[in-house]
Amino acid sequence: MRAVCWHGKQDVRVDTVPDPEIVQKGDVIVKVALTCICGSDLHLYNGYVPTMKKGDILGHEFVGEIVAAGPAVTRFRVGDRVIVPFPISCGACWYCKHELWSLCDNSNPNSWMMEHIYGDTGGGIFGYSHLYGGYAGGQAEYVRVPFADVGLEKIPDGIPYEQVVLLTDIMPTGYQAAVYCNINPGDTVAVWGCGPVGLLAMKSAKLLGTERVIGIDRFPDRLQMAHNQCQAEVLNYEEVDVAEQLQNMTGGRGPDSCIDAVGLEARGTGIEDVYDLVKQTLRLETDRASALRQLVKACRKGGTLSITGVYSGFIDKFPMGAIFAKGLTVRGGQAHVHKYLPHLVQLVAEQQIDPSSIITHRMSLEDAPEGYRTFVKKQDSCIKIVLKPEHAAPKSEPASA
Ligand code: NAD
Ligand code: ZN
Repeated sequence: MRAVCWHGKQDVRVDTVPDPEIVQKGDVIVKVALTCICGSDLHLYNGYVPTMKKGDILGHEFVGEIVAAGPAVTRFRVGDRVIVPFPISCGACWYCKHELWSLCDNSNPNSWMMEHIYGDTGGGIFGYSHLYGGYAGGQAEYVRVPFADVGLEKIPDGIPYEQVVLLTDIMPTGYQAAVYCNINPGDTVAVWGCGPVGLLAMKSAKLLGTERVIGIDRFPDRLQMAHNQCQAEVLNYEEVDVAEQLQNMTGGRGPDSCIDAVGLEARGTGIEDVYDLVKQTLRLETDRASALRQLVKACRKGGTLSITGVYSGFIDKFPMGAIFAKGLTVRGGQAHVHKYLPHLVQLVAEQQIDPSSIITHRMSLEDAPEGYRTFVKKQDSCIKIVLKPEHAAPKSEPASA
């Protein structure tokens, strides 16, 4: 089959690789109908996530049709159209039982790596390094999906794949980011990053009843989309002092909640930006903290920081004193997609949300390298890219076990 493979920093290629097979009784094989490039994939592309190996298949946002099912699968059968959450969860461990799905204790065969770095394990993720389990990803024609009965969600008849493909990851991610803000009527939520995750976090904050959302970025087309699609007031962090401006906009108090939808490749301005770029290049810090520092500075006393951008290790000049003095609550982590999926599918079916409105680029899977180049440079007003495998050659589907 054809699949998008990682070959090194800023080097992805579409290779011909072996088809996946059923390995465990609870597996299914999904024939991918649509898959996306995520901002998280850019951290792999730019070489910031350790433990990638040449030839690893990328991708963790994909929907498609089941073409083979293991003998223990009971909720699904061949022919079902399904949404596949990006975290892999066993459904039986303490964390899954407590709806902390992305922290599953059993789905990451390389959990020792994470224990070594972070002091504890995390669940597996499709196509996201050996640290996260070394699973083959979904930017491919076919994918092996373990624990199918636990994770998958059927796509209701009549709903096209494009309307639900973002429910695999960034829609629930944006939704969780907003949930973590504990929104009360009248609240102001500020969102750093107007990329796909930031935009869906703003939409979710509105859905959950916030009065005002304020979007922060430096790309005019992204700020424009935040304004048009999320009714956000917008700030360009290259043009204003963000924390000062946010305080001015909120009667001197600051936003009630601040969402980080930027992550470890945050940019800043002036000397701070240079400082972080140099330290990260020299491996003296793994993550750049420009956005995080602004969140801490801007948030009102007693407010919440909801950190949904991905961080991988250690940051420098982190204002811990301000978090303490201002009594801030900090929440974050990989999205517990399984928890939000049924509700979000219902909202799509009822046409209360349409996450596909942020898709700007539709390409063939074969054009993935060009897609990565366009997305990483934010060229051509690119917000979200959807890739379609061609399944060109007539071939027999993998047989059911
Ligand atoms: P993206 O790269 O398209 O968007 C990031 C945006 O942040 C860009 O528009 C960039 O200009 C902006 N930015 C950079 N520095 C900034 C600053 N100082 N202030 C304000 N904006 C700044 O990526 P995306 O797809 O929207 O993903 C965003 C983050 O969310 C990534 O780190 C990604 O890995 C993460 N993510 C997390 C989860 C999760 O489960 N927690 C899931 C998906 C994605
Ligand atoms: Zn993602």
